[in-house]
Amino acid sequence: MDRAFFVTTPIYYISGNPHIGHAYTTIAADVLVRTARAAGPAYSLTGTDEHGQKVANAAAAAGKTPQQYVDELAPRWRSLAPTFNAKFDDFIRTTDPRHVKACVAVFEQLRATGDIYLGTYEGWYCTNDETFWPESKLIDGRCPNPECRRAVDWLSEEDWFFKLSAYRDRLIAYFKEHRGFVRPPAVWNEMMATLEGGLDDLSISRTSFDWGIPLPGGVMYVWFDALLNYITATGWHDDPELFARVWPAGVQLIGKEIARFHTIIWPAMLWALGLEPPRLVYAHGWILSDGQKMSKSLGNVFDPFALAETYGADSIRYFLLREAPFGSDFTVSEEKLRTRHNSDLGNDLGNLLRRSLAMLMRYRNGLVPPAAESQLGERFADLGSTVLERVTNLQFREALDAIWELVTALNREIEEEKPWALHKAGLGDRLDAVLYDLCEGLRWLALLLYPFMPVKCAEMWRQLGLPGTPERLWTEELHWGALAANTQTDPGDALFPRIE
Ligand SMILES: [Zn+2]
Repeated sequence: MDRAFFVTTPIYYISGNPHIGHAYTTIAADVLVRTARAAGPAYSLTGTDEHGQKVANAAAAAGKTPQQYVDELAPRWRSLAPTFNAKFDDFIRTTDPRHVKACVAVFEQLRATGDIYLGTYEGWYCTNDETFWPESKLIDGRCPNPECRRAVDWLSEEDWFFKLSAYRDRLIAYFKEHRGFVRPPAVWNEMMATLEGGLDDLSISRTSFDWGIPLPGGVMYVWFDALLNYITATGWHDDPELFARVWPAGVQLIGKEIARFHTIIWPAMLWALGLEPPRLVYAHGWILSDGQKMSKSLGNVFDPFALAETYGADSIRYFLLREAPFGSDFTVSEEKLRTRHNSDLGNDLGNLLRRSLAMLMRYRNGLVPPAAESQLGERFADLGSTVLERVTNLQFREALDAIWELVTALNREIEEEKPWALHKAGLGDRLDAVLYDLCEGLRWLALLLYPFMPVKCAEMWRQLGLPGTPERLWTEELHWGALAANTQTDPGDALFPRIE
């Protein structure tokens, strides 16, 4: 069976509500996997992280069992992807029996190999972050996480440990040999410095509460359980055929705040299991509001559901990936969103479709003329491969820049050729050639932009009179002149109605 390009989002911690940062990761993963699909098989996974003390505490405060609590929250998280027109092949919850069973199997296997052993743990523990902190990291005796800074507790308990320290040399060597394994480079540097600073074994069990995957004498540390979702959802334990197709993952998208877990602990866990690390872990930037990272405690969180309602999901998808390079932090504001929506999408793209189809209707009864010689075909011959390369390299903005050159070229063709004047002057062949270019260019745009704006591009495709959806293999579709003569177009409503 064909290998599939496998893309993951982190599983989202279920306590609380989704914010625009979660939508950002979800959208990026979806665009990546849809673009990959234009070249071959791909597979995608998202889900929710549902164990741990924070969930247990929140459930208790709400007067619910943890299971009731997560069952009530899960649908909202599950609706995040469809709200933004994102489609994943699988959604895993860490309370799924398939996940629990596989985690227990991981524990048993690593216990047998000696990678997991029983030891005593003493240290400063932050309940909020579910993290042990070394004394040296504490700030004024409190949790060093700048968003937390809560009091820490001294814990001493018999725990299961993962022999993380044994993998330090191998990690350092791997980082050096695979500089592209962690991106952007700033995150690679930071993680390399962490590795060089030393690596302790990881306590992977907790005994002070019981909301987690059961281990002898306790429950599994929520991060150890959560990281395993990428292989428990893809059949490591129960579906070897699927697992062989997708693992190692092509790209694992994360926020940079969880880089240590995904680039140090996770590869070591995989090696312990005899598996390869993912090809790439990419830590995207933070979305800022008024220059600060958005977080629930700061109260500066955009509600993604409300934004999608106001601007439309495809406009948000476009905005988030066009606004800044993927690895950088950037600021979101409704004004910026409105500008992108009205100017890039409404004027550049939506008007191009509307004007082109209106002229075709006026001069040719809506029927696509026969293909003619065109300079655009030559000029944009490599556009498909450029876009594919940039997106798979996580350069979403740069891919959109390349696509927008075609948008600009088509708008310029209208301005320079003036189809209305060609009609008036009786230059029918020339008019046919221009109208054909416009329709063919729009067909290309629907194909190339489909991963970014699937609903709007499906509508473009329909107005162009084409069957099905633009989810196609680009190698078969992106030949200038492939649009058949006499295709009956069907102009419809404006794609991106103006928002004031
Ligand atoms: Zn903390």
